Amino acid sequence: MPTAQRTDPRGLSSAEAARRLAHDGPNELPTARPVPAWKLLLAQLTHLFAVMLWIAAALAVLAGMTPLAVAIVVIVLLNGAFAFAQEYRADRAAERLRDLLPTSVQVIRDGELKSVDAPDLVVGDRVLLAAGGKVSADLQLATVHALAVDESTLTGESVPVRPASDDHVYAGTYVVQGEAEAIVTAVAGATRLAGIQTLTESADRPDSPLTVELHRLIRIIAFIAAAVGISLSAVSLILGLNFTDAFLFGVGVMVALVPEGLLPTVTLALARGAQRMAHGNALVRRLDAVETLGATTYICTDKTGTLTLNQMEVQEVWTPRGIVTMNGAGYDPAGTAHGDPRAIEAAVQAAAAAIACIRGHAVRKQDKWVAEGDPMEVALDVLARRLGVPPFDQASITRRVAFSSETRYSAVVANGNTLVIGAPDALLPYCRDGVAEDTARAVDALASRGHRVLAVATAPGSRVTDGRLDLGPGSLELRAVVGLEDPPRKDVQAALETCRRAGIRIAIVTGDHAATAAVIAREVGLLGPGGLVVTGADLPADDQRLGRLLDRDEGVVVARVTPADKLRIARALRARGHVVAMTGDGVNDAPALREADVGVAMGASGSDVARAAADLVLLDDHFASIVRAVELGRATFSNVRRFLTYHLTDNVAELAPFAVWALSGGSIPLAIGVLQVLALDIGTDMLPAIALGIESPSERTLDGPARHRRLVDRGLLARAFGILGPTEALVSMGVFVAILIGSGWRWGAEPAAADLVVASGTTFTVIALMQLANAFACRSGRRTVFELPLLGNRALLVAVGAELALIMLFVGQPTLANLLGGAWPSYQGWLLAIAAAVVLLLVDTTAKLLRRRIL
Ligand code: ADP
Ligand code: MG
Repeated sequence: MPTAQRTDPRGLSSAEAARRLAHDGPNELPTARPVPAWKLLLAQLTHLFAVMLWIAAALAVLAGMTPLAVAIVVIVLLNGAFAFAQEYRADRAAERLRDLLPTSVQVIRDGELKSVDAPDLVVGDRVLLAAGGKVSADLQLATVHALAVDESTLTGESVPVRPASDDHVYAGTYVVQGEAEAIVTAVAGATRLAGIQTLTESADRPDSPLTVELHRLIRIIAFIAAAVGISLSAVSLILGLNFTDAFLFGVGVMVALVPEGLLPTVTLALARGAQRMAHGNALVRRLDAVETLGATTYICTDKTGTLTLNQMEVQEVWTPRGIVTMNGAGYDPAGTAHGDPRAIEAAVQAAAAAIACIRGHAVRKQDKWVAEGDPMEVALDVLARRLGVPPFDQASITRRVAFSSETRYSAVVANGNTLVIGAPDALLPYCRDGVAEDTARAVDALASRGHRVLAVATAPGSRVTDGRLDLGPGSLELRAVVGLEDPPRKDVQAALETCRRAGIRIAIVTGDHAATAAVIAREVGLLGPGGLVVTGADLPADDQRLGRLLDRDEGVVVARVTPADKLRIARALRARGHVVAMTGDGVNDAPALREADVGVAMGASGSDVARAAADLVLLDDHFASIVRAVELGRATFSNVRRFLTYHLTDNVAELAPFAVWALSGGSIPLAIGVLQVLALDIGTDMLPAIALGIESPSERTLDGPARHRRLVDRGLLARAFGILGPTEALVSMGVFVAILIGSGWRWGAEPAAADLVVASGTTFTVIALMQLANAFACRSGRRTVFELPLLGNRALLVAVGAELALIMLFVGQPTLANLLGGAWPSYQGWLLAIAAAVVLLLVDTTAKLLRRRIL
């Protein structure tokens, strides 16, 4: 006899479960093992550019230039270590975030339904599976109600299977339909999943779109760098350099032009953004969702729990015999019913039928009554207790129909009767006298008070076929219509206000009744006079018209939607160019969550399936958390743009000396050497770039619509390569030539070696100080330095201090200065360098004011 049959329907005792947990250890399912640290480090030292540097170093040794070789090796190691440290930190941070969201499991212990964290499951536990849940251990099914399981995580095939009772279901799969009770047969490392994971452990994660885009950018830059490097070394060969020198020179130029520290700095900035979001209860499941969130222009949110507290209480029960008013406080079962005795009797019968369909119940925890399970179900449990209805004997249930957002009802068959609860519009058409005028009026009256409405109906016999109710006109008898109050959350109004300011449009997309949703929408200030209230069934069939209909400022309510409607809404809005964030909690919401640019799932109440499909999980289910995440997304987005601009500017200034030298046919000497370029790239530039990447959001982050959809766009490239870069290049080369002329050099002549190192050191200082100024210029793409609070970014001040110290070291410390090939500038040189920094700020200010049409 299989184990499932032998176990007690009351489940394990808590004591036995604790004993097994202590003995077997926690049910920790293996996750893909992280790449070991040494592999990460090795990768940083062996990628294309590092290899190029290694070759350069080897050639330098062969050419007898040992100090250069040593310097290059040191740089590869430093840069590799730095990149490794950032990637490693980002990885660990992502791991910590994952730990914030445990999967909880419904188990029966001591004869009671409890919810425990998946790691606390033990062999022999009796668990309850419901649609949307993740299977957290290997299980043997005991009782099955229309169960369907998605095993694609194990088999790769995404056709849901329908296991019979006595079959097994496995950890890592998802329940997509129905319900079941099952007994844990294996946990942790003994599960089938564990066996498979060891096989696929090495499978690579696919790159995110952001990574792809960054890699593309880096490849473009690398290509340009290679082209420039090769052509410049060809020119230098013609100019009479020997082959080794020319080759070294070319490689040096190439390597100097590639912003190697870029990718890890982006990763770090995104990880930092994700961490900040987690503090605001928004958990990012893919790092690049941070970027997409920042670009969000349209939020489709559901109502229950997101805009409302999801604390439900039945206030009124309408029955065919009259209305019953309920009194009580929250989930406390103590309370009273008022109304005609016959009405109360009808309400008692209705409540008795309703509680057959539910699992949730109120429990007392430290003198407080709280909800265990779906708050709506708990409210029904409380209603029944207030009416004095005895608990329903769950053992008498022979079939179950679980709630789905498509059918919008749930039902059981017990003692030869079918008992149903569900949305009135889903049930009334099948009720005898269902569309009677007073019933419809009762529903409208409750809904127009903002109450969630629920119909209770019964029918003799079993009407379940294939997991659905088999309904026809007049097949149900209406017992009651229940009105549940669910007050709006307090800070939703402010969050909506913020969205309006940020140019983000909002739609409430809900399975609820239109009137209920409209009342809540007005209460929180979402629905203006030009707003729209429409039901899913009335949406235009044409996607283009649908998009146009929903794309409005004054708020939209789409009620009675099906998951298919949600999918269409996301698609139609995206087709209009919106970046769409869409919330969803149900098992059928997964396609819509994937279709949206940012799928948002609920951490507190949603299904595991929805969470697995989402990009963002709200730990507190709160709408305001979405808005906060959008704000942080935007802030992170601008941070990455800031240091991209900063980094790329530098490249232009670094390229100029080589271009000028080559194009003048060697008549103008090389202003700075390869090692100086590397010192700028990896030495002085790095810390300010990081500091720019972690700047906190300003209060103005959500003022006005999102300005940029992509990280790297024409505006950014124009600013770096068209304005800031050329300014740095022109000024630094101008200073170089001026200093040379000042020391007696004339066009085409060979300058004295001592004069050249001073001019070179000065040029280096000019570029470095201009980059220092640039760090401040890059703090905003719109506001000028003079409009920004100077002390706004502490990290940047520290970084700039370090940058100054490094500059001093590079031109002041004799050994280093010798190696790099630049000497300490004269005091005129220093004055010129400071002036150059001011020039950069002035040019930047002028450009910004011109763009804002102030000048
Ligand atoms: P929302 O958009 O508010 O999350 P739902 O899709 O959860 O809407 O619910 C839509 C309607 O379905 C509710 O107004 C209610 O009448 C009905 N309903 C919700 N949950 C259940 C349930 N567990 N059993 C039966 N009916 C339900
Ligand atoms: Mg819901």
